[in-house]
Amino acid sequence: MDNFDVVIIGASASGLMCAIEAGKRGRKVLALDHASKICKKILISGGGRCNFTNLDVSADNYLSNNSHFCKSALSRFSQWDFIGMINDYEIPYHEREHGQLFCNDSARSIRDMLQKECVKAQVTIQLNTSINKVAKQDNGFMLKTSQGSVSCRSLVIASGGLSIPKMGASPFGYKIAEQFGLPICQPIAGLVPFTLHEQDKARFAPLSGIAIECVASCPSKSFRENLLFTHRGLSGPAMLQISSYWQPGENLHINLLPDLDLAEMLDELKQQGSRLQVKTALAQYLPKRLVSTLLEPDLLEQPLAGLSRVQRDQIASSLHNWQIKPNGTEGYRTAEVTVGGVDTNSLSSKTMECTSVKGLYFVGEVVDVTGWLGGYNFQWAWSSGWCAGQYA
Ligand SMILES: Cc1cc2nc3c(=O)[nH]c(=O)nc-3n(C[C@H](O)[C@H](O)[C@H](O)COP(=O)(O)OP(=O)(O)OC[C@H]3O[C@@H](n4cnc5c(N)ncnc54)[C@H](O)[C@@H]3O)c2cc1C
Repeated sequence: MDNFDVVIIGASASGLMCAIEAGKRGRKVLALDHASKICKKILISGGGRCNFTNLDVSADNYLSNNSHFCKSALSRFSQWDFIGMINDYEIPYHEREHGQLFCNDSARSIRDMLQKECVKAQVTIQLNTSINKVAKQDNGFMLKTSQGSVSCRSLVIASGGLSIPKMGASPFGYKIAEQFGLPICQPIAGLVPFTLHEQDKARFAPLSGIAIECVASCPSKSFRENLLFTHRGLSGPAMLQISSYWQPGENLHINLLPDLDLAEMLDELKQQGSRLQVKTALAQYLPKRLVSTLLEPDLLEQPLAGLSRVQRDQIASSLHNWQIKPNGTEGYRTAEVTVGGVDTNSLSSKTMECTSVKGLYFVGEVVDVTGWLGGYNFQWAWSSGWCAGQYA
């Protein structure tokens, strides 16, 4: 049986960051993964350019049952520390809106950087390996894997969440948590497009391809971002962001004209004696197809001159506060993250070690810390992996 100081399950963002740091401390480290390649999600992230962090990171950008938990890790290994690594490797990158940082060329450069750091830190990476059994021993853990047995002093679970099973996602981390009696915050798909009820789907499918800046709200949160109509439902950053907060059965409230007071605008035009019809007046602000889907034909044809106060308010409300009840979401098949996970109350925020099981650590997406869209999820993976790597 092989002996290691640290075994890490999951050879992707959080797992390799942890492996590198533990290896630098002279620990004998093995990173195991059932996939055939490392860092699969990094490679597909950000449309192949990996939105690897954000210039503006704080606990406010994360969902968790304990909103304070992520603060320590995010400050001990911050976005500036990761940007420092990227600079050391001379990986070219650029900033997009909302402070999001992307590779100029390819996400492969991040994978290559992690791989080189693993070589430097003498980390052993073993792929195509499934873990059949994990048992606690006096001085650590014993693992039975498809490639034989391994023992270790510290075991780090970096196996991610449930999103995109095709990429190797599995409930492994939650099962280990259960095995050791740790509570789990109910996992749900996050950063995921909405699906619509049949009637709405038929009504909005012809708008497929229309993207529009809006303020999207559910009872607990609002985001100002782009909404994209698709042939399956509603997507785009506004919908992905709000999906992490949305509860089934809730209405979404969407302000399609966040910079305009529509009632005031219509009143002004009327007072100026405008001869325009409602649909023509609105056409300079919103795509015609969208307006004619949301407003009744008799309102659309109405000349502004004859518009009643009730009709004006009806138009303003339809476009400033369009309400729609999604049928659900596309689920883990397309979700970028899993909201929920191993309850942070059972982990140390400084080390990521379980308070009740010495030597057992959880890092990355498997933990109940979920970032917004915008590089926050990778930053959590780097930060939590780095912290565990200082102690595992
Ligand atoms: C399409 C897509 C695009 C994304 N884009 C971005 C982005 O641009 N910016 C951003 O910040 N976040 C993005 N994310 C989210 C980000 O990829 C994850 O939050 C991040 O990868 C989590 O890192 P992790 O190491 O915790 O888990 P993962 O990266 O999911 O790695 C888990 C590893 O564990 C392995 N594993 C799982 N189960 C087992 C098992 N039973 N046995 C052995 N190994 C196992 C997996 O094969 C995998 O290699 C995106 C996600 C998706 C799906």
